[in-house]
Amino acid sequence: MDRENVLELRNVTKTFGDFVAVDSVDFELQAGEIHAILGENGAGKSTLMNLIYGLYQPSDGRIYVTDRENWQRRFRAKSPRDAIANGIGMVHQHFMLIENLTVSENIALALGQLRRGPVGSASSNGDYKKWLGKFRFKKEEAIRITEELSERFGLTVDPTALVRTLSVGLKQRVEILKALAVDARILILDEPTAVLSPQEVGGFFAILRKLQADGRAIIFISHKMKEVLDISDRITVLRRGKKVYLGKTGELTARGLAREMIGEEINEVERSVGVGLPNPYESDPPDSVLRLSNLTVLGSRSEVAVSDVSMETCRGEIVGIAGVDGNGQRELAEAIMGLRHNSSGTISILGTDPKGTKAVRHRGVGYIPEDRQTTGVIAAFSVMENLLLNVTHLENLTQWNILNQKRKHETAESLITDYDIRPPNPDIPVSALSGGNQQKIVLAREISLQPDLLIAVNPTRGLDVNAAHYVHENLLAQRDQKKSVLLISTELDEVLLLSNRLFVMSRGKLIEATAQRNDIEALGLLMTGESHADMSDG
Ligand code: ADP
Ligand code: MG
Repeated sequence: MDRENVLELRNVTKTFGDFVAVDSVDFELQAGEIHAILGENGAGKSTLMNLIYGLYQPSDGRIYVTDRENWQRRFRAKSPRDAIANGIGMVHQHFMLIENLTVSENIALALGQLRRGPVGSASSNGDYKKWLGKFRFKKEEAIRITEELSERFGLTVDPTALVRTLSVGLKQRVEILKALAVDARILILDEPTAVLSPQEVGGFFAILRKLQADGRAIIFISHKMKEVLDISDRITVLRRGKKVYLGKTGELTARGLAREMIGEEINEVERSVGVGLPNPYESDPPDSVLRLSNLTVLGSRSEVAVSDVSMETCRGEIVGIAGVDGNGQRELAEAIMGLRHNSSGTISILGTDPKGTKAVRHRGVGYIPEDRQTTGVIAAFSVMENLLLNVTHLENLTQWNILNQKRKHETAESLITDYDIRPPNPDIPVSALSGGNQQKIVLAREISLQPDLLIAVNPTRGLDVNAAHYVHENLLAQRDQKKSVLLISTELDEVLLLSNRLFVMSRGKLIEATAQRNDIEALGLLMTGESHADMSDG
Protein backbone atom coordinates (compact mmCIF):
# COMPACT_ATOMS: atom_id res chain seq x y z
CA MET A 1 0.00 0.00 0.00
CA ASP A 2 2.79 2.41 0.85
CA ARG A 3 4.09 4.14 -2.21
CA GLU A 4 7.39 5.80 -2.87
CA ASN A 5 7.99 9.28 -1.59
CA VAL A 6 8.21 12.03 -4.17
CA LEU A 7 9.09 14.67 -1.60
CA GLU A 8 10.68 14.43 1.83
CA LEU A 9 11.41 17.07 4.42
CA ARG A 10 13.76 16.26 7.25
CA ASN A 11 13.97 18.46 10.29
CA VAL A 12 13.08 21.60 8.39
CA THR A 13 13.08 24.81 10.40
CA LYS A 14 12.32 28.37 9.41
CA THR A 15 12.83 31.31 11.70
CA PHE A 16 11.94 34.95 11.17
CA GLY A 17 14.17 36.83 13.58
CA ASP A 18 13.55 35.16 16.94
CA PHE A 19 10.27 33.67 15.84
CA VAL A 20 10.21 30.00 14.85
CA ALA A 21 7.48 29.70 12.20
CA VAL A 22 8.37 26.11 11.19
CA ASP A 23 9.99 23.98 13.85
CA SER A 24 11.98 20.82 12.94
CA VAL A 25 9.27 19.46 10.68
CA ASP A 26 9.44 16.04 8.99
CA PHE A 27 7.06 15.59 6.12
CA GLU A 28 6.66 13.02 3.37
CA LEU A 29 4.57 13.13 0.24
CA GLN A 30 3.87 9.87 -1.56
CA ALA A 31 3.33 9.46 -5.28
CA GLY A 32 -0.35 9.70 -6.15
CA GLU A 33 -1.63 10.73 -2.74
CA ILE A 34 -3.67 13.69 -1.59
CA HIS A 35 -1.99 14.75 1.60
CA ALA A 36 -3.81 17.31 3.71
CA ILE A 37 -2.05 19.76 5.96
CA LEU A 38 -4.34 20.87 8.69
CA GLY A 39 -3.63 23.62 11.16
CA GLU A 40 -5.04 26.77 12.61
CA ASN A 41 -4.25 30.20 11.30
CA GLY A 42 -0.60 30.91 11.95
CA ALA A 43 0.34 27.25 12.39
CA GLY A 44 3.02 27.56 9.71
CA LYS A 45 1.30 25.87 6.77
CA SER A 46 1.97 28.54 4.16
CA THR A 47 5.52 29.04 5.40
CA LEU A 48 6.24 25.34 5.04
CA MET A 49 4.91 25.36 1.49
CA ASN A 50 6.86 28.48 0.61
CA LEU A 51 10.01 26.63 1.70
CA ILE A 52 9.26 23.79 -0.66
CA TYR A 53 8.43 26.21 -3.45
CA GLY A 54 11.61 28.23 -3.08
CA LEU A 55 10.01 31.46 -1.91
CA TYR A 56 11.82 31.05 1.42
CA GLN A 57 15.10 29.34 2.23
CA PRO A 58 15.08 26.96 5.20
CA SER A 59 17.05 28.04 8.27
CA ASP A 60 17.87 24.40 8.88
CA GLY A 61 17.01 20.90 7.67
CA ARG A 62 16.89 19.14 4.34
CA ILE A 63 14.45 18.74 1.48
CA TYR A 64 14.61 15.81 -0.94
CA VAL A 65 12.79 15.28 -4.21
CA THR A 66 12.52 12.20 -6.35
CA ASP A 67 13.01 13.07 -9.97
CA ARG A 68 11.55 11.48 -13.04
CA GLU A 69 14.25 8.83 -13.14
CA ASN A 70 13.39 7.84 -9.56
CA TRP A 71 16.50 9.35 -8.15
CA GLN A 72 16.10 10.80 -4.78
CA ARG A 73 18.32 13.78 -4.24
CA ARG A 74 18.78 16.67 -1.92
CA PHE A 75 17.06 19.72 -3.18
CA ARG A 76 16.87 23.34 -2.30
CA ALA A 77 14.76 25.59 -4.50
CA LYS A 78 16.37 28.98 -4.77
CA SER A 79 13.31 30.36 -6.49
CA PRO A 80 9.88 29.23 -7.68
CA ARG A 81 11.46 28.76 -11.08
CA ASP A 82 13.76 26.17 -9.55
CA ALA A 83 10.82 24.44 -7.93
CA ILE A 84 8.89 24.43 -11.20
CA ALA A 85 11.89 22.96 -13.02
CA ASN A 86 11.79 20.18 -10.42
CA GLY A 87 8.13 19.43 -11.03
CA ILE A 88 6.64 21.38 -8.13
CA GLY A 89 3.69 23.68 -8.78
CA MET A 90 1.87 25.87 -6.30
CA VAL A 91 -1.50 27.57 -6.27
CA HIS A 92 -1.24 30.32 -3.69
CA GLN A 93 -3.81 31.52 -1.23
CA HIS A 94 -3.78 34.76 -3.22
CA PHE A 95 -3.75 34.24 -6.94
CA MET A 96 -0.76 35.26 -9.00
CA LEU A 97 -2.53 35.88 -12.30
CA ILE A 98 -2.17 38.91 -14.50
CA GLU A 99 -5.66 40.30 -14.70
CA ASN A 100 -5.33 42.21 -17.96
CA LEU A 101 -4.09 39.25 -19.96
CA THR A 102 -6.17 36.42 -21.33
CA VAL A 103 -6.22 32.93 -19.90
CA SER A 104 -3.93 31.55 -22.59
CA GLU A 105 -1.52 34.47 -22.25
CA ASN A 106 -1.20 33.73 -18.55
CA ILE A 107 -0.47 30.12 -19.38
CA ALA A 108 2.10 31.14 -21.97
CA LEU A 109 3.80 33.25 -19.29
CA ALA A 110 4.01 30.26 -17.01
CA LEU A 111 5.56 28.19 -19.77
CA GLY A 112 7.93 31.05 -20.53
CA GLN A 113 9.00 31.10 -16.93
CA LEU A 114 10.01 27.50 -17.28
CA ARG A 115 11.82 27.89 -20.58
CA ARG A 116 13.15 31.40 -20.48
CA GLY A 117 13.56 32.51 -16.92
CA PRO A 118 11.46 34.50 -14.53
CA VAL A 119 9.22 37.34 -15.64
CA GLY A 120 10.94 39.55 -13.05
CA SER A 121 11.70 42.71 -14.99
CA ALA A 122 8.59 42.47 -17.12
CA SER A 123 6.29 42.05 -14.15
CA SER A 124 7.85 44.91 -12.21
CA ASN A 125 7.22 47.47 -14.92
CA GLY A 126 3.91 45.88 -15.86
CA ASP A 127 4.72 45.76 -19.57
CA TYR A 128 3.54 42.20 -20.05
CA LYS A 129 2.12 42.62 -23.51
CA LYS A 130 5.43 43.78 -24.92
CA TRP A 131 7.25 41.02 -23.14
CA LEU A 132 4.79 38.46 -24.38
CA GLY A 133 5.38 39.67 -27.92
CA LYS A 134 9.08 38.84 -27.70
CA PHE A 135 8.34 35.41 -26.57
CA ARG A 136 8.35 32.39 -28.75
CA PHE A 137 4.80 31.19 -28.17
CA LYS A 138 2.45 32.26 -30.88
CA LYS A 139 -0.96 33.31 -29.76
CA GLU A 140 -2.54 30.29 -31.47
CA GLU A 141 -0.08 27.93 -29.86
CA ALA A 142 -0.88 29.25 -26.38
CA ILE A 143 -4.58 28.83 -27.09
CA ARG A 144 -4.05 25.31 -28.37
CA ILE A 145 -2.01 24.29 -25.30
CA THR A 146 -4.66 25.75 -23.03
CA GLU A 147 -7.43 23.90 -24.83
CA GLU A 148 -5.57 20.61 -24.68
CA LEU A 149 -4.96 20.91 -20.97
CA SER A 150 -8.53 22.03 -20.33
CA GLU A 151 -9.87 19.04 -22.14
CA ARG A 152 -7.53 16.52 -20.59
CA PHE A 153 -8.41 17.49 -17.04
CA GLY A 154 -11.95 18.69 -17.49
CA LEU A 155 -10.93 22.20 -16.45
CA THR A 156 -13.20 24.09 -18.78
CA VAL A 157 -12.31 27.72 -19.32
CA ASP A 158 -12.32 30.04 -22.33
CA PRO A 159 -8.66 30.54 -23.38
CA THR A 160 -9.41 33.93 -24.92
CA ALA A 161 -11.25 35.39 -21.92
CA LEU A 162 -9.57 38.21 -20.01
CA VAL A 163 -8.65 36.94 -16.55
CA ARG A 164 -10.21 39.95 -14.87
CA THR A 165 -13.63 39.01 -16.21
CA LEU A 166 -13.51 35.54 -14.59
CA SER A 167 -15.09 34.46 -11.31
CA VAL A 168 -12.73 33.40 -8.51
CA GLY A 169 -13.57 29.77 -9.16
CA LEU A 170 -12.48 30.12 -12.78
CA LYS A 171 -9.35 32.04 -11.83
CA GLN A 172 -8.42 29.16 -9.62
CA ARG A 173 -8.84 26.82 -12.58
CA VAL A 174 -6.43 28.96 -14.55
CA GLU A 175 -3.91 28.73 -11.70
CA ILE A 176 -4.18 24.96 -11.74
CA LEU A 177 -3.83 24.93 -15.53
CA LYS A 178 -0.67 27.00 -15.15
CA ALA A 179 0.81 24.37 -12.86
CA LEU A 180 -0.25 21.58 -15.22
CA ALA A 181 1.17 23.44 -18.22
CA VAL A 182 4.63 23.13 -16.71
CA ASP A 183 3.86 19.51 -15.90
CA ALA A 184 4.00 19.80 -12.12
CA ARG A 185 4.02 16.33 -10.58
CA ILE A 186 3.66 17.78 -7.13
CA LEU A 187 0.84 20.27 -6.68
CA ILE A 188 0.66 22.48 -3.63
CA LEU A 189 -2.77 24.01 -3.07
CA ASP A 190 -2.82 26.58 -0.29
CA GLU A 191 -6.34 26.97 1.12
CA PRO A 192 -7.87 26.49 -2.34
CA THR A 193 -11.45 26.19 -1.11
CA ALA A 194 -11.46 29.45 0.86
CA VAL A 195 -12.71 31.28 -2.22
CA LEU A 196 -15.22 28.68 -3.39
CA SER A 197 -18.91 28.13 -2.66
CA PRO A 198 -19.99 24.64 -1.50
CA GLN A 199 -21.15 23.97 -5.03
CA GLU A 200 -17.76 24.80 -6.49
CA VAL A 201 -15.95 22.76 -3.81
CA GLY A 202 -17.65 19.60 -5.10
CA GLY A 203 -16.48 20.27 -8.64
CA PHE A 204 -13.04 21.21 -7.43
CA PHE A 205 -12.66 17.94 -5.53
CA ALA A 206 -13.63 16.03 -8.66
CA ILE A 207 -10.74 17.77 -10.43
CA LEU A 208 -8.34 16.86 -7.63
CA ARG A 209 -9.33 13.21 -7.91
CA LYS A 210 -8.68 13.34 -11.63
CA LEU A 211 -5.23 14.79 -11.07
CA GLN A 212 -4.56 12.12 -8.50
CA ALA A 213 -5.65 9.39 -10.91
CA ASP A 214 -3.19 10.91 -13.35
CA GLY A 215 -0.42 10.08 -10.88
CA ARG A 216 0.18 13.50 -9.42
CA ALA A 217 0.81 14.04 -5.73
CA ILE A 218 -1.18 16.81 -4.10
CA ILE A 219 -0.66 18.78 -0.92
CA PHE A 220 -4.02 20.16 0.13
CA ILE A 221 -4.01 22.86 2.78
CA SER A 222 -7.08 23.75 4.73
CA HIS A 223 -8.36 24.52 8.17
CA LYS A 224 -11.74 23.02 7.36
CA MET A 225 -12.05 19.60 8.90
CA LYS A 226 -14.86 18.28 6.78
CA GLU A 227 -13.08 19.04 3.53
CA VAL A 228 -9.89 17.43 4.73
CA LEU A 229 -11.78 14.28 5.74
CA ASP A 230 -13.58 14.22 2.39
CA ILE A 231 -10.64 14.54 0.06
CA SER A 232 -7.37 13.39 1.64
CA ASP A 233 -5.57 10.05 1.92
CA ARG A 234 -3.32 11.14 4.75
CA ILE A 235 -3.27 14.09 7.13
CA THR A 236 -0.42 16.01 8.73
CA VAL A 237 -1.39 18.40 11.51
CA LEU A 238 0.77 21.41 12.31
CA ARG A 239 0.48 23.30 15.56
CA ARG A 240 2.59 26.37 16.26
CA GLY A 241 5.13 25.37 13.65
CA LYS A 242 5.49 21.79 14.85
CA LYS A 243 4.26 18.61 13.25
CA VAL A 244 2.01 17.09 15.91
CA TYR A 245 0.25 14.36 13.95
CA LEU A 246 0.56 12.23 10.85
CA GLY A 247 -1.92 9.53 10.00
CA LYS A 248 -4.20 7.96 7.46
CA THR A 249 -7.46 9.82 6.92
CA GLY A 250 -10.20 8.30 9.07
CA GLU A 251 -7.83 7.17 11.80
CA LEU A 252 -8.88 10.16 13.88
CA THR A 253 -12.36 11.66 14.02
CA ALA A 254 -12.95 15.34 13.34
CA ARG A 255 -12.96 15.89 17.07
CA GLY A 256 -9.66 14.10 17.52
CA LEU A 257 -8.10 16.14 14.74
CA ALA A 258 -9.40 19.35 16.28
CA ARG A 259 -7.75 18.38 19.52
CA GLU A 260 -4.46 17.92 17.68
CA MET A 261 -4.90 21.28 15.98
CA ILE A 262 -5.48 23.30 19.12
CA GLY A 263 -3.86 21.09 21.72
CA GLU A 264 -6.79 21.03 24.10
CA GLU A 265 -10.42 20.02 24.36
CA ILE A 266 -12.76 21.99 22.20
CA ASN A 267 -15.93 23.63 23.35
CA GLU A 268 -18.96 23.53 21.18
CA VAL A 269 -22.03 25.68 21.03
CA GLU A 270 -24.76 23.65 22.67
CA ARG A 271 -27.60 26.08 22.51
CA SER A 272 -27.74 26.47 18.79
CA VAL A 273 -31.02 27.75 17.46
CA GLY A 274 -30.96 26.32 14.00
CA VAL A 275 -32.17 28.14 10.96
CA GLY A 276 -35.92 28.15 10.61
CA LEU A 277 -36.80 27.71 14.26
CA PRO A 278 -39.29 30.35 15.30
CA ASN A 279 -38.07 33.46 17.00
CA PRO A 280 -39.02 32.77 20.65
CA TYR A 281 -39.44 36.45 21.39
CA GLU A 282 -41.46 37.28 18.38
CA SER A 283 -44.25 39.69 19.09
CA ASP A 284 -47.20 40.27 16.86
CA PRO A 285 -46.52 42.36 14.88
CA PRO A 286 -42.77 41.63 15.05
CA ASP A 287 -40.63 44.19 16.77
CA SER A 288 -38.65 45.57 13.87
CA VAL A 289 -35.13 46.92 14.45
CA LEU A 290 -33.52 47.32 11.05
CA ARG A 291 -35.46 47.82 7.87
CA LEU A 292 -33.87 48.14 4.44
CA SER A 293 -36.01 49.17 1.48
CA ASN A 294 -34.75 49.00 -2.08
CA LEU A 295 -31.21 49.67 -0.92
CA THR A 296 -28.65 50.02 -3.71
CA VAL A 297 -25.03 50.81 -2.84
CA LEU A 298 -22.18 51.65 -5.16
CA GLY A 299 -18.77 50.11 -4.48
CA SER A 300 -15.41 51.80 -4.52
CA ARG A 301 -15.14 51.52 -8.32
CA SER A 302 -18.69 52.89 -8.69
CA GLU A 303 -19.98 49.43 -9.57
CA VAL A 304 -23.34 48.33 -8.16
CA ALA A 305 -22.20 46.39 -5.09
CA VAL A 306 -25.57 46.06 -3.37
CA SER A 307 -28.54 45.80 -5.67
CA ASP A 308 -32.08 46.69 -4.63
CA VAL A 309 -32.04 44.96 -1.25
CA SER A 310 -35.09 44.93 1.01
CA MET A 311 -35.12 43.10 4.33
CA GLU A 312 -35.90 43.45 7.99
CA THR A 313 -34.42 42.24 11.27
CA CYS A 314 -36.38 41.95 14.51
CA ARG A 315 -35.69 41.73 18.22
CA GLY A 316 -34.68 38.35 19.58
CA GLU A 317 -33.40 36.91 16.35
CA ILE A 318 -30.17 36.38 14.50
CA VAL A 319 -30.53 36.99 10.80
CA GLY A 320 -27.76 35.32 8.84
CA ILE A 321 -26.40 36.34 5.46
CA ALA A 322 -24.25 33.68 3.80
CA GLY A 323 -22.24 34.14 0.63
CA VAL A 324 -18.86 33.94 -1.01
CA ASP A 325 -16.53 36.88 -0.34
CA GLY A 326 -16.90 39.92 -2.53
CA ASN A 327 -20.60 39.72 -3.33
CA GLY A 328 -21.53 43.01 -1.70
CA GLN A 329 -21.56 41.94 1.95
CA ARG A 330 -18.94 44.45 3.00
CA GLU A 331 -20.68 47.31 1.22
CA LEU A 332 -24.02 46.33 2.74
CA ALA A 333 -22.62 46.38 6.28
CA GLU A 334 -20.79 49.65 5.67
CA ALA A 335 -23.89 51.29 4.23
CA ILE A 336 -25.92 50.35 7.32
CA MET A 337 -23.13 51.74 9.49
CA GLY A 338 -23.32 55.06 7.66
CA LEU A 339 -19.88 54.57 6.15
CA ARG A 340 -20.99 54.65 2.51
CA HIS A 341 -22.82 57.54 1.01
CA ASN A 342 -23.39 56.69 -2.62
CA SER A 343 -26.53 54.71 -2.08
CA SER A 344 -30.21 54.92 -2.84
CA GLY A 345 -33.22 53.46 -1.05
CA THR A 346 -33.75 53.68 2.71
CA ILE A 347 -32.09 52.33 5.83
CA SER A 348 -34.31 52.63 8.85
CA ILE A 349 -33.08 51.84 12.36
CA LEU A 350 -35.77 51.66 15.04
CA GLY A 351 -37.96 53.78 12.84
CA THR A 352 -35.46 56.57 12.31
CA ASP A 353 -33.06 57.40 9.53
CA PRO A 354 -29.73 58.35 11.14
CA LYS A 355 -27.10 59.98 8.90
CA GLY A 356 -23.43 59.16 9.35
CA THR A 357 -21.63 56.66 11.58
CA LYS A 358 -21.87 58.68 14.74
CA ALA A 359 -25.64 59.03 14.43
CA VAL A 360 -25.99 55.32 13.61
CA ARG A 361 -24.03 54.35 16.70
CA HIS A 362 -26.07 56.75 18.81
CA ARG A 363 -29.17 54.97 17.62
CA GLY A 364 -27.81 51.83 19.28
CA VAL A 365 -25.90 49.92 16.64
CA GLY A 366 -22.79 47.86 17.41
CA TYR A 367 -20.42 46.79 14.67
CA ILE A 368 -17.91 43.95 14.44
CA PRO A 369 -16.19 44.77 11.16
CA GLU A 370 -14.79 42.25 8.74
CA ASP A 371 -11.26 43.49 8.96
CA ARG A 372 -10.12 43.43 12.55
CA GLN A 373 -6.61 44.57 11.70
CA THR A 374 -7.50 47.79 9.93
CA THR A 375 -10.90 48.81 11.26
CA GLY A 376 -11.61 46.72 14.36
CA VAL A 377 -8.74 47.74 16.59
CA ILE A 378 -5.96 50.30 16.52
CA ALA A 379 -2.90 48.14 17.01
CA ALA A 380 -0.62 50.81 18.47
CA PHE A 381 -3.19 51.92 21.08
CA SER A 382 -3.44 50.22 24.45
CA VAL A 383 -5.98 47.55 25.29
CA MET A 384 -7.83 50.10 27.43
CA GLU A 385 -7.96 52.71 24.70
CA ASN A 386 -9.27 50.14 22.25
CA LEU A 387 -11.90 48.94 24.68
CA LEU A 388 -13.16 52.48 25.12
CA LEU A 389 -12.72 53.75 21.57
CA ASN A 390 -16.37 53.99 20.82
CA VAL A 391 -17.88 57.48 20.91
CA THR A 392 -20.67 56.46 23.23
CA HIS A 393 -18.25 54.93 25.71
CA LEU A 394 -16.24 58.11 25.81
CA GLU A 395 -19.33 60.19 26.40
CA ASN A 396 -20.46 57.96 29.26
CA LEU A 397 -17.12 58.45 30.93
CA THR A 398 -16.85 62.15 30.40
CA GLN A 399 -17.74 64.63 33.09
CA TRP A 400 -17.50 68.29 32.22
CA ASN A 401 -15.60 67.09 29.18
CA ILE A 402 -12.83 65.63 31.24
CA LEU A 403 -12.32 61.89 31.02
CA ASN A 404 -12.35 60.39 34.43
CA GLN A 405 -9.13 58.38 34.41
CA LYS A 406 -10.06 56.19 37.34
CA ARG A 407 -13.43 55.21 35.85
CA LYS A 408 -11.75 54.60 32.54
CA HIS A 409 -9.38 52.10 34.11
CA GLU A 410 -12.11 50.38 36.10
CA THR A 411 -14.33 49.99 33.05
CA ALA A 412 -11.48 48.52 31.03
CA GLU A 413 -10.53 46.13 33.80
CA SER A 414 -14.02 44.79 34.24
CA LEU A 415 -14.36 44.23 30.48
CA ILE A 416 -11.02 42.40 30.47
CA THR A 417 -12.32 40.11 33.21
CA ASP A 418 -15.76 39.60 31.66
CA TYR A 419 -14.38 38.76 28.22
CA ASP A 420 -11.34 36.89 29.51
CA ILE A 421 -8.92 39.01 27.49
CA ARG A 422 -5.36 37.73 27.84
CA PRO A 423 -2.96 38.90 29.03
CA PRO A 424 -5.21 40.86 31.43
CA ASN A 425 -3.29 44.10 31.18
CA PRO A 426 -5.14 47.26 30.06
CA ASP A 427 -1.95 49.19 29.38
CA ILE A 428 -0.13 47.09 26.77
CA PRO A 429 -0.60 47.78 23.06
CA VAL A 430 -3.20 45.70 21.28
CA SER A 431 -0.55 44.60 18.77
CA ALA A 432 0.91 42.40 21.52
CA LEU A 433 -2.27 40.27 21.67
CA SER A 434 -3.22 37.23 19.61
CA GLY A 435 -5.93 37.54 16.95
CA GLY A 436 -8.45 35.82 19.20
CA ASN A 437 -7.84 38.23 22.03
CA GLN A 438 -7.99 41.22 19.68
CA GLN A 439 -11.38 39.99 18.52
CA LYS A 440 -12.50 39.70 22.15
CA ILE A 441 -11.66 43.40 22.54
CA VAL A 442 -13.87 44.29 19.58
CA LEU A 443 -16.67 42.13 21.01
CA ALA A 444 -16.29 43.55 24.50
CA ARG A 445 -16.37 47.10 23.22
CA GLU A 446 -19.31 46.63 20.89
CA ILE A 447 -21.47 44.40 23.10
CA SER A 448 -20.90 46.22 26.39
CA LEU A 449 -22.81 49.17 24.97
CA GLN A 450 -25.85 46.90 24.74
CA PRO A 451 -26.66 47.77 21.16
CA ASP A 452 -30.19 47.12 19.94
CA LEU A 453 -28.67 45.98 16.68
CA LEU A 454 -25.33 44.20 16.37
CA ILE A 455 -23.81 43.80 12.92
CA ALA A 456 -21.14 41.12 12.82
CA VAL A 457 -19.14 40.53 9.64
CA ASN A 458 -17.04 37.35 9.57
CA PRO A 459 -16.69 37.61 13.34
CA THR A 460 -14.71 34.38 13.74
CA ARG A 461 -12.38 34.62 10.75
CA GLY A 462 -8.89 33.58 11.75
CA LEU A 463 -9.88 32.52 15.26
CA ASP A 464 -9.14 29.17 16.86
CA VAL A 465 -12.02 26.85 17.65
CA ASN A 466 -12.46 27.93 21.24
CA ALA A 467 -12.26 31.64 20.50
CA ALA A 468 -14.83 31.15 17.73
CA HIS A 469 -17.06 29.33 20.20
CA TYR A 470 -16.79 32.28 22.55
CA VAL A 471 -17.88 34.68 19.84
CA HIS A 472 -20.84 32.43 19.01
CA GLU A 473 -21.91 32.33 22.65
CA ASN A 474 -21.85 36.11 22.74
CA LEU A 475 -23.97 36.47 19.62
CA LEU A 476 -26.50 34.03 21.05
CA ALA A 477 -26.53 35.95 24.32
CA GLN A 478 -27.40 39.12 22.42
CA ARG A 479 -30.31 37.34 20.82
CA ASP A 480 -31.44 36.01 24.21
CA GLN A 481 -31.48 39.56 25.52
CA LYS A 482 -33.97 40.44 22.81
CA LYS A 483 -31.44 42.34 20.76
CA SER A 484 -31.27 42.00 17.02
CA VAL A 485 -28.19 40.49 15.37
CA LEU A 486 -27.25 40.65 11.70
CA LEU A 487 -24.60 38.01 11.07
CA ILE A 488 -22.81 38.28 7.72
CA SER A 489 -20.37 35.44 7.18
CA THR A 490 -18.64 33.46 4.48
CA GLU A 491 -18.63 30.40 6.77
CA LEU A 492 -21.86 28.69 5.85
CA ASP A 493 -21.68 26.34 8.84
CA GLU A 494 -21.57 29.28 11.20
CA VAL A 495 -24.56 30.98 9.60
CA LEU A 496 -26.56 27.72 9.68
CA LEU A 497 -25.65 27.10 13.31
CA LEU A 498 -26.68 30.48 14.65
CA SER A 499 -29.35 32.09 12.50
CA ASN A 500 -33.11 32.05 12.90
CA ARG A 501 -33.54 33.27 9.36
CA LEU A 502 -31.17 32.81 6.47
CA PHE A 503 -30.33 34.87 3.41
CA VAL A 504 -27.77 34.36 0.69
CA MET A 505 -26.01 37.29 -0.93
CA SER A 506 -24.79 36.85 -4.48
CA ARG A 507 -23.67 39.55 -6.90
CA GLY A 508 -25.25 42.23 -4.76
CA LYS A 509 -28.67 40.55 -4.54
CA LEU A 510 -30.12 39.26 -1.33
CA ILE A 511 -32.19 36.09 -1.54
CA GLU A 512 -34.15 34.60 1.35
CA ALA A 513 -33.05 30.98 1.77
CA THR A 514 -34.53 29.86 5.09
CA ALA A 515 -36.52 27.16 3.29
CA GLN A 516 -33.34 25.73 1.73
CA ARG A 517 -31.53 25.43 5.05
CA ASN A 518 -31.10 21.65 4.83
CA ASP A 519 -30.16 21.61 1.20
CA ILE A 520 -26.50 22.49 0.86
CA GLU A 521 -26.66 21.92 -2.86
CA ALA A 522 -29.44 24.48 -3.29
CA LEU A 523 -27.62 26.95 -1.03
CA GLY A 524 -24.50 26.47 -3.10
CA LEU A 525 -26.41 27.26 -6.26
CA LEU A 526 -27.78 30.42 -4.69
CA MET A 527 -24.28 31.41 -3.58
CA THR A 528 -22.86 31.12 -7.07
CA GLY A 529 -25.86 32.95 -8.45
CA GLU A 530 -26.45 30.06 -10.84
CA SER A 531 -29.97 29.19 -9.86
CA HIS A 532 -31.16 32.47 -11.35
CA ALA A 533 -29.68 31.60 -14.70
CA ASP A 534 -31.15 28.12 -14.45
CA MET A 535 -34.58 29.48 -13.82
CA SER A 536 -34.53 31.97 -16.63
CA ASP A 537 -33.18 29.40 -19.06
CA GLY A 538 -35.96 27.03 -18.55
P1 ADP B 1 -0.63 29.50 8.22
O1 ADP B 1 -0.46 29.45 6.73
O2 ADP B 1 -0.64 28.15 8.87
O3 ADP B 1 -1.83 30.30 8.64
P2 ADP B 1 1.82 31.01 8.15
O4 ADP B 1 2.80 30.03 7.65
O5 ADP B 1 1.32 32.02 7.20
O6 ADP B 1 0.62 30.26 8.87
O7 ADP B 1 2.45 31.80 9.37
C1 ADP B 1 3.05 31.12 10.47
C2 ADP B 1 3.60 32.15 11.43
O8 ADP B 1 4.77 32.74 10.87
C3 ADP B 1 2.65 33.28 11.73
O9 ADP B 1 2.75 33.59 13.10
C4 ADP B 1 3.16 34.40 10.88
O10 ADP B 1 2.87 35.64 11.48
C5 ADP B 1 4.65 34.14 10.82
N1 ADP B 1 5.21 34.59 9.56
C6 ADP B 1 4.89 34.14 8.32
N2 ADP B 1 5.63 34.75 7.38
C7 ADP B 1 6.42 35.64 8.03
C8 ADP B 1 7.43 36.58 7.61
N3 ADP B 1 7.74 36.74 6.33
N4 ADP B 1 8.03 37.30 8.57
C9 ADP B 1 7.72 37.14 9.87
N5 ADP B 1 6.81 36.27 10.34
C10 ADP B 1 6.16 35.52 9.43
MG1 MG C 1 -1.64 30.24 5.19
